[in-house]
Amino acid sequence: MDKIIVLIGAPGAGKGTQARLLDERRGIPQISTGDMFREMKTLDTPLAKEVQEIMASGKLISDELTYQIVRERTSKPDTAGTYVLDGYPRTAVQASQLEELAKEQGKEILAIEVDVERDELMKRLTGRRSCPVCGEIYNVYSKPPAIEGFCDEHPDVALTHRADDSEEKVTVRLETYDELTKPLLEYYASSGRLEKVDGTGEIEDIYGEIEGLV
Ligand code: AMP
Repeated sequence: MDKIIVLIGAPGAGKGTQARLLDERRGIPQISTGDMFREMKTLDTPLAKEVQEIMASGKLISDELTYQIVRERTSKPDTAGTYVLDGYPRTAVQASQLEELAKEQGKEILAIEVDVERDELMKRLTGRRSCPVCGEIYNVYSKPPAIEGFCDEHPDVALTHRADDSEEKVTVRLETYDELTKPLLEYYASSGRLEKVDGTGEIEDIYGEIEGLV
């Protein structure tokens, strides 16, 4: 049966990096709600403005809107088979909406927790940089680009630092994770659908573990 792989982890745990690798190497499409919202907020509409404000605060977008974009995105042909959700679900309501979607799509859910300690998360997030063209993620501490401040693939493009990766916003995002998203681990564990990987260490080792589970 095709799967919906759900990567669960605090902001900065490396979900995006791992999901991208699954996409690139195994052809499993990466559906990132955070990326979709970041694209959406650049539009000039009242909804886009609202999304922009909520994201800047470090809080979550409404469950309804989030479900709508996930539903629409996963109705495209490339997600007919297994796909990976990066950053969704993040609340109990979203988890139950995903159950419905999985049923409709005839897929089973496999949740993988990517576990990283709090101090390390803070360092990762405040050090995170990304390429505005290809989305590649770097880190000034652990995965620096060949030329400081520039993408390896697009050397003429300066890397950007997300506004919500400031220390203040990261604190809000980590609290939101603890309060709303962490309880989902128990939810998936109690139905025997949770695997856990240690998210500290080499990106390749973590990828190897995740690849073995999917
Ligand atoms: P991320 O890149 O996954 O850290 O997401 C960045 C921001 O997008 C979050 O802080 C939220 O404001 C919003 N967002 C992403 N995924 C969700 C979701 N599943 N539910 C609600 N808001 C989300």
